[in-house]
Amino acid sequence: MTAQIIDGKAVAEDVVEQVKAATADLVAKSGVKPGIAVVIVGEDPASQVYVRSKGRKATECGFHSVTHTMDASISQDHLLTLVNQLNADPAIHGILVQLPLPDHIDEGEVIQAIAPDKDVDGFHFINVGKLGTGQTDTAFVPCTPAGSMLLTKRALGRDDLSGLTAVVVGRSNIVGKPMANLLLAANATVTIAHSRTPDLPGLVATADIVVAAVGRPQMVRGDWIKPGACVIDVGINRIDAPEKGEGKTRLVGDVHFEECAQVAGSITPVPGGVGPMTIAMLMANTLTGACRAAGVEPPPL
Ligand code: NDP
Repeated sequence: MTAQIIDGKAVAEDVVEQVKAATADLVAKSGVKPGIAVVIVGEDPASQVYVRSKGRKATECGFHSVTHTMDASISQDHLLTLVNQLNADPAIHGILVQLPLPDHIDEGEVIQAIAPDKDVDGFHFINVGKLGTGQTDTAFVPCTPAGSMLLTKRALGRDDLSGLTAVVVGRSNIVGKPMANLLLAANATVTIAHSRTPDLPGLVATADIVVAAVGRPQMVRGDWIKPGACVIDVGINRIDAPEKGEGKTRLVGDVHFEECAQVAGSITPVPGGVGPMTIAMLMANTLTGACRAAGVEPPPL
């Protein structure tokens, strides 16, 4: 079998097109323009690249978009004051504080200071709790698992995953756990695996849906995969690529793509799978925040 390659770039573009259309509609009907504020602290080059692309995508969607670039030496109090100002700003419907923050800042305190109804990253305890109790209609769901879930449903051609088993490898708060909750909310029978799980290959081999969010390059091998399974690779790892020339590198996922694509029914590539979905879902979450503020039903994706 050769797997269907799940085109995350195309699905992300489709999401962004829907967000653009719904934004134009919201502005025309209610005068509410979705607003997103991204806060970045310090000079981390990777974070700056992410923040710039978020800003560009927000503008493309027709949003009001502001970026607050703060010096790495900013105090905790100063940062919390900024978050509180954004919480109170009616033009802002989504607040994202780019992680990681410098060591002297208490990341948890900053995240919990964001108003839950503007927490488009979905990391506030209120949103985590809503997702955990199945209240996905009023929660903000973290963007990477939300995007992974949309790819899963589109690949399988169904929203209801009743009768299917899913194994999520990884139990982080930002990917593994919320992904497991989303699969459960869609009626899959879900197992979460982690570094202490015995016989991981044997467990993965039972799954109709495999989600890998581990941070270990190409860990999931072809002979772990149940024939026909849907494989969602969240991992982004940079590895040496001497075949491309001296000192060159390339991106790979947590799944050995070439091997698994021979066995799976569908599979996300890296890059071009889950990666592009994260920013698209951030735009969708911001639109959702604006719709809720305007008392309008957000469009279904
Ligand atoms: P974390 O490091 O927070 O979590 C990794 C998880 O994998 C942990 O639960 C850990 O288990 C588990 N794990 C580690 N080694 C093994 C092993 N040998 N066998 C089984 N489980 C193992 O990572 P994240 O969840 O933040 O990210 C996971 C991957 O997803 C990374 O490659 C990251 O770059 C990528 N990512 C991609 C995003 C995107 O936009 N596409 C966004 C976010 C992340 P334990 O808990 O026991 O330590």
